[in-house]
Amino acid sequence: MYFYKSKVSFVMTTEANNHKSTEMKAIKGKQEKTICVHEGEVTDTQFKGAVSPLFLSTSYPYEDVDEKRYPRYLNSPNPQNLARKVAALENAEDALMLSSGMAAISNTILTIMKPGEHIVLQNQLYGGTAHFITEELKALNIAFDFTDGLDVTDLERLIRPDTKAIYIETPSNPLLQIVDIAGVATFAQNNGLTSIIDNTFATPINQKPIDLGIDIVLHSATKYFGGHSDITAGAVAGKAATIERISNKAINLGGNLADFTAWLLERSMKTLSLRVHQQNQNAQQVADFLEGHQKIEKVNYPGLVSHPQHKLAKRQMKGFGGMMSFELKKDVNVQDFLSKLNLIKDSMSLAGVESTILLPSKTSHSLLTTEERQAQGISERLLRFSCGIEDADDLIEELENALHT
Ligand SMILES: *Cc1c(COP(=O)(O)O)cnc(C)c1O
Repeated sequence: MYFYKSKVSFVMTTEANNHKSTEMKAIKGKQEKTICVHEGEVTDTQFKGAVSPLFLSTSYPYEDVDEKRYPRYLNSPNPQNLARKVAALENAEDALMLSSGMAAISNTILTIMKPGEHIVLQNQLYGGTAHFITEELKALNIAFDFTDGLDVTDLERLIRPDTKAIYIETPSNPLLQIVDIAGVATFAQNNGLTSIIDNTFATPINQKPIDLGIDIVLHSATKYFGGHSDITAGAVAGKAATIERISNKAINLGGNLADFTAWLLERSMKTLSLRVHQQNQNAQQVADFLEGHQKIEKVNYPGLVSHPQHKLAKRQMKGFGGMMSFELKKDVNVQDFLSKLNLIKDSMSLAGVESTILLPSKTSHSLLTTEERQAQGISERLLRFSCGIEDADDLIEELENALHT
């Protein structure tokens, strides 16, 4: 009883009305793996525990404090500190955590774009992003165009006097095509346009778009940041002034990341670099194996020398990622192949520590007609593969058995 009381009085005297407990350790200048583990930690000043304490409070004092705290203001301790880890990894001035990738994407586009303006987006975008654009922007009098191809000239061709921003996503889903990030960034800078990239597939471990001149980087943290298929979250990184504008929009629209999810996500991100490096390695091995297999028509992986943009990928990526897609030859029954997989699970999502597979023609791209899919290069026999951190030999053995007829 005495101990309990003394603990409470300690909290009251040293913690009340200040935010000491949310101080972060300064680890500037450290390497990436160290940033993954330590940047943006919440310091446990009370018990000096090794991990960030979790602050679930929705109620904070408002008088005589520097910052009015409230979770929807995106400044509760765990999400706010976690954003520093994202900013450090992306070499950005600042970052913001949101409740989902789509919350990051929608809040960003709604901040950057005003009525009467125009945005150019590459085709082959994440489906949810494409839906958001086509279903929400018209009513706001924001014009948009999707490119035909993925070259900088395809974007250039669509620029009008009222164009405000360019939006790209590379490697693309599900064909793993590569967009020239520096080329897009330079074009945007020369024409006074805001450049936005969805960096979910590559992660900052493999690709740092801000170093290549991009203005705003978006993430579905549901994917590699979370990495264990159990978290929904989003992030946006960029200049401090831009992040502040997006933050002000998000305060109005809602969509803050829940404190507990931020705490879990911090734990996940400690292993981001380790996971992604392993996934890069496994994916390269699996892609090499598939490319050499007689039952495989084609493998789309930027790490393969046969990839049409392998040189560009090498220039702008430090690793080629864990995502690939491949086409089965006509004599392999797609459903038979899928039914023989055990470790590799069917999944709509991606980027977990477990390997997963998806048939775009029957799932993510099932709303398109066969002709529309063909026009995009998505055949009925194309499979998207998200490589996990299992032993690559086990993955290859399973794929080999499933291809054996
Ligand atoms: C999943 C995903 C999104 C959307 O993220 P949510 O967290 O599901 O809202 C956006 N972009 C890419 C590339 C994705 O894979």
